[in-house]
Amino acid sequence: MISQTRMIVQDSLDALLEDTAFLPGLEGEARKQAFTSLGAILSTPNHLHKSFLRVALENGSVVRIPAFRVQHNNALGPYKGGIRFHESVNEDEVINLASLMTLKNALHDVPYGGGKGGIVLDPRAYSEKELHLICKKYVQYFSDILGPDKDIPAPDMGSGEREMDWMMAEYKSIRPGQAYKGSFTGKSVINGGSLGRREATGKGVYFTFRYLLHDFLQKQREFLSNSESIFAKTALDYDNSESPLTIAVQGFGNVGSVAALEAYQCQHLQNKVVAVSDRNVTLFNADGLDIPSLIKFTSLHGGDLPTTELELAEANVKAAIQNRSDVLYLDVDVLFLAALEDQIHDTNKGKIKARIIVEGANAPVTSEADEYLSNKGVIVIPDILANAGGVIVSYLEWMQGRETQFYSEEEVYRLLLEKMKNTMDTILPAFFGDPHPLRQNCYIHSVMKLSTVLYRQGKLY
Ligand code: NAD
Repeated sequence: MISQTRMIVQDSLDALLEDTAFLPGLEGEARKQAFTSLGAILSTPNHLHKSFLRVALENGSVVRIPAFRVQHNNALGPYKGGIRFHESVNEDEVINLASLMTLKNALHDVPYGGGKGGIVLDPRAYSEKELHLICKKYVQYFSDILGPDKDIPAPDMGSGEREMDWMMAEYKSIRPGQAYKGSFTGKSVINGGSLGRREATGKGVYFTFRYLLHDFLQKQREFLSNSESIFAKTALDYDNSESPLTIAVQGFGNVGSVAALEAYQCQHLQNKVVAVSDRNVTLFNADGLDIPSLIKFTSLHGGDLPTTELELAEANVKAAIQNRSDVLYLDVDVLFLAALEDQIHDTNKGKIKARIIVEGANAPVTSEADEYLSNKGVIVIPDILANAGGVIVSYLEWMQGRETQFYSEEEVYRLLLEKMKNTMDTILPAFFGDPHPLRQNCYIHSVMKLSTVLYRQGKLY
């Protein structure tokens, strides 16, 4: 995963170095030197902070829990990115996720840099009181480097609004009298969080797919028909299809369940969600699954889908119960990946039948698999394009904290989709006009923006 981001950034820089229309003021040796600087800046974080949080547990023992905050780049604004609570968190992973945030914010014109945090723990192994203490310690250890105009954390895997509320409260007590509402995003609404934040990522994920295959296609059918791109052919094949598009969704949590519901309710495209999966099972029904009933069931069962006939009957859902990995290999048109990283890789890439893949999770398709699928004309809507809804709504939350004025849920969704639409309108014509995968188009766009800003700030020498 690490090399994937760095590799594509370096490929983008190599292409831009050759493109003399880009930053024409830079020529000859000075140009080469500037691009070498850019490579160095973008491939390494500005700061890597690591601490061991000293926590007294309820059983009387004292543990030291490793914790990170990586500040990758702040050329576009304060560092921004979630704090992951997971036992597998490690330095390289946090650095990579922080650099993805830099690129994601640049792509969507969100005025933030990229950061990420992590705490190496399994949150289920700690009591609520212990987790509260861990959150407070994290803020105490890193308070000098955090703040509404410096570095603004948010939730990530294993953390949520409860943790953000605790952290904001600790930040406030460490810095009395200073602005604090914008110090953390993803807070509860009562504590200054944004309406619609929970649904934002899933809604955005579905929107990128719908926009590509419906809105953009409606406007640009002629352009696509004249394009030589294999991806244009994939999109047009679906447009001409008489039968509803079949969709499978891996992961039925925050992102996957909302994306599945959006697909189920979509008025723009003829869709059928035929499969969903989670950590335990895949559920399949060729006639389409009842997504609202499944959401209701998961909300009553700790987030898990039905795993037995009895539970399916309780959910009032008709489906075949299959292995959890089956979801990846079904004969469907579209696959949403909303669970974990590295789900489609070198050894299973040949078994994938979907011709459109949407990355709701971060890096669920490895670079080898991405290249293989792209060569076959599969459109992969990449994470930095598809799953930015969370950070876009975090930005709205941060603005609300500064203005102490609140947007309605309707307003939040309107602003979210408008921002994603603007990005899609910038990226899609180039994507359908050249042979490169969508991920590469997105990276080039982000790298161009960051390079121009750094150049104009006089940072390339
Ligand atoms: P979540 O914890 O709410 O849901 C995760 C889902 O994946 C659950 O249904 C879980 O059962 C399932 N799952 C876990 N292991 C699995 C496995 N081996 N096979 C199949 N399914 C499995 O998490 P989420 O917030 O929905 O996030 C999903 C992904 O999207 C994560 O990778 C996260 O980093 C990424 N992401 C989330 C957001 C956000 O705003 N929530 C934003 C950007 C990216």
